[in-house]
Amino acid sequence: MERTLAIIKPDGVARGLVGEIIGRLEREGISIIAMKMIWMTKGQAKAFYKVHAGKPFYEGLTGFMCSGPCVVMVLEGKEVIDTYRELMGATDFKEAAKGTIRHDYATDIEKNVVHGSDGPRSAAFEIAYFFNELEILKR
Ligand code: UDP
Ligand code: MG
Repeated sequence: MERTLAIIKPDGVARGLVGEIIGRLEREGISIIAMKMIWMTKGQAKAFYKVHAGKPFYEGLTGFMCSGPCVVMVLEGKEVIDTYRELMGATDFKEAAKGTIRHDYATDIEKNVVHGSDGPRSAAFEIAYFFNELEILKR
């Protein structure tokens, strides 16, 4: 079993896509083992995305991520990191495969509706960034 962090970004929440995205996860058989709504400060968004510090899109991205509420979730499943990244689609929605969340809903390379961890190390950091162990379901 593997865990990953998923975020429905401020554009997804503002456009009423929370139910649609959670439905896709459920239909895929992915378990949601923690979930909450948050509204990040700029500082929190910058620390979350610190791997991208210094890149040209860092200011825009972190400004966007604190522009409204997000839904953050911990997902669990066999190979869920890759399974969920496949559901999301490529970062740039123009390159995202048909039927992926970003293909179907993203409007911009920045405003691409969802976030997912890119590997086990980032998943561990990102889950611990938003959730303590008491907030995560144990089965
Ligand atoms: N991003 C952007 N411009 C870029 C690349 C990325 O605005 O050229 C934003 C986009 O919202 C993306 C996030 O920065 O989801 C993090 O980038 P990353 O390369 O980690 O993509 P992801 O893992 O989200 O697919
Ligand atoms: Mg990434």
